[in-house]
Amino acid sequence: MTSAKENLKEAVLAEPDQDKKIRCKLCAHRCVIDDGKLGRCCVRKNIDGVLYSLNYDKVCSANPDPIEKKPLFHFQPGTRSFSIAAMGCNFQCDFCQNWQISQAAIEGGQIDGQPISPQQIVSAAVRGGCKSIAYTYTEPTIFMELCSDCGRLAKEKGLANVFVSNGFMTREAIDFARDWLDGINVDLKAFSEDYYKRLCKARLQPVLDTISYIANQTNIWLEITTLLVPAENDSDQELKKLADFIVSKAGPDVPWHISRFHPQYKYLDSVPTPLETLERAEQIGKAAGLHYVYLGNVPGTKSESTFCYKCGRMLIERVGYHIAANHLKDSCCPDCGERIAGFEL
Ligand code: SF4
Repeated sequence: MTSAKENLKEAVLAEPDQDKKIRCKLCAHRCVIDDGKLGRCCVRKNIDGVLYSLNYDKVCSANPDPIEKKPLFHFQPGTRSFSIAAMGCNFQCDFCQNWQISQAAIEGGQIDGQPISPQQIVSAAVRGGCKSIAYTYTEPTIFMELCSDCGRLAKEKGLANVFVSNGFMTREAIDFARDWLDGINVDLKAFSEDYYKRLCKARLQPVLDTISYIANQTNIWLEITTLLVPAENDSDQELKKLADFIVSKAGPDVPWHISRFHPQYKYLDSVPTPLETLERAEQIGKAAGLHYVYLGNVPGTKSESTFCYKCGRMLIERVGYHIAANHLKDSCCPDCGERIAGFEL
């Protein structure tokens, strides 16, 4: 006879509570889960007083992507990142681009995926000439056990590891990952609690805490992305708050990716972000003191390239996710010698 626990991976950062309850410390929801029940993400289950990951051996996406697609523009530019995901999320964003894999478990569907081992993932990354492994497409926090096993092995083979995350992780989760995690792009979706609550069923403050902690207390390379949703988070006032927060709490060298929205999933009654809105946000970011502000989902603009913030020299020319030219010399501007912040530039 097989038990419900067979083939399941025991969850990390789980703490026993009273009466066989378990407190999960991976993300800021900090669920207290009754015996036999699921956490809010629906991919972690308490079975007999032990918490298990339900998506450890269920890889639902595995592709070599340009690192620029994450987006990470100051991290091993021009290289490929083997990108994997498992189903699930701790957010429920109305406009999620990957809702088929992120929301299936929450909506009561199956957790699909292939049992691809960390060894197989790392081997595929090495064979494919990738320089890193990206945990992306869904929220890596909720498949932390796979990230961790894979990440440690990847480091042994000389590969870097990056997260593309909503930033709702706990400090304990960051500390758990910091030995093998080299880079992260955190989605800072807006600067209002109302936005996070109404559109994502989450909270802003833990995301701000994550950004400050990573920037100031770890060596993890940080970039930030904000999707501009028309009439939701694109006022001058809110954009200024976002930019001021990044400058003051993370620093002017943290790249800010301002990304164009397209109607998705449950959020269809809108228009794509106008180019003028993106350009206005770019100006606000630069005026606030940010050194690197990029526009995303608008291929063909010069705002996807890297310029020296000191002398204005074009340093890395991008066309979409393709690097057309990289003029950096030992991570410095070849004209004025200014050092450009990043990881293995
Ligand atoms: S990862 Fe977050 S949502 Fe999932 S069980 Fe843990 S605390 Fe709850």
